[in-house]
Amino acid sequence: MHYQVVVIGGGAAGFFGAIVLAEALPGIRILILEQGKNVLEKVRISGGGRCNVTNGCEDPSELVNFYPRGQKELLGPFYHFGPSQMKAWLTSHGVQLKEEDDGRVFPASNTSETIIDCFRYCKNMAST
Ligand SMILES: Cc1cc2nc3c(=O)[nH]c(=O)nc-3n(C[C@H](O)[C@H](O)[C@H](O)COP(=O)(O)OP(=O)(O)OC[C@H]3O[C@@H](n4cnc5c(N)ncnc54)[C@H](O)[C@@H]3O)c2cc1C
Repeated sequence: MHYQVVVIGGGAAGFFGAIVLAEALPGIRILILEQGKNVLEKVRISGGGRCNVTNGCEDPSELVNFYPRGQKELLGPFYHFGPSQMKAWLTSHGVQLKEEDDGRVFPASNTSETIIDCFRYCKNMAST
């Protein structure tokens, strides 16, 4: 079997990167290698099992103030793909979201399994 891209690590970053790449380049063959027993294990436990997917603060210049050690470096990436884009991506892939009073955004189901199911489904769709 030949692959054009090999992703080392089946965590949130590896899965999301692979899905976005596969959606941009349909037909591309991507292999995700995971050393652990299960992929997306940290996503499962994240946010106390609810997975805090992003923040309600959609203004990058305001959002960076919450990252005093990476304020400068994160500004560009947040303009490129910030909370608005994350929320839009998840919603367009079937995940309903809810924002709590403190700005944290979770799947409306209140369980990280929703995010895992979404990532697994998208990956399977992209690789068929
Ligand atoms: C208790 C807890 C709660 C958290 N809650 C949140 C939250 O609510 N929201 C949030 O955004 N973040 C949360 N985080 C941070 C969260 O861990 C990261 O957002 C997310 O997991 C980062 O994803 P990642 O893919 O970069 O890394 P990881 O999830 O660590 O994934 C990396 C993967 O690569 C694999 N790997 C490493 N080396 C190799 C190798 N050589 N070969 C093959 N596989 C390899 C690892 O086994 C792992 O599965 C939480 C973290 C913890 C510990």
